[in-house]
Amino acid sequence: MLEILPESVRLKTPEGEKTLKNDFVFALTGYHPDYEFLKSLGIRTQDPDMRPECDPKSLESNVPGIYLAGVIIAGAKTGEIFIENGRFHGQQIAADLKAKLHPATAVI
Ligand SMILES: Cc1cc2nc3c(=O)[nH]c(=O)nc-3n(C[C@H](O)[C@H](O)[C@H](O)COP(=O)(O)OP(=O)(O)OC[C@H]3O[C@@H](n4cnc5c(N)ncnc54)[C@H](O)[C@@H]3O)c2cc1C
Repeated sequence: MLEILPESVRLKTPEGEKTLKNDFVFALTGYHPDYEFLKSLGIRTQDPDMRPECDPKSLESNVPGIYLAGVIIAGAKTGEIFIENGRFHGQQIAADLKAKLHPATAVI
């Protein structure tokens, strides 16, 4: 992509420069989690997928008291967590906090 113009885009192709008429441009540039942020908290990640270390049941990371929820759990494999399964993470974390704060009343 060389340039996005109001009604066209200029492309560099093996056959030379081309201009295509267009209405919209979607910038699907990809993304990845903020690994540096995790690192700054002391959370370790595992290569090659950069999954942060956490207990699969409680979702507490290797840093006691820091829990992980949502798509971050899958590291670079962001396609593994959806709203459908990620929405249960809060429940797991709350159960662990409850057990730790009130060990006598916890149901195991
Ligand atoms: C194109 C697309 C379509 C999808 N369609 C579906 C679907 O149909 N059904 C479904 O179940 N799931 C779908 N998903 C997946 C769903 O969007 C994710 O599973 C869900 O959004 C994950 O929620 P999350 O809170 O874990 O992460 P996110 O929604 O990614 O939220 C993380 C937030 O943290 C912020 N953040 C990151 N780093 C920092 C930082 N250092 N400091 C402060 N804030 C920070 C980000 O800006 C972001 O707002 C789709 C995903 C994509 C990309």
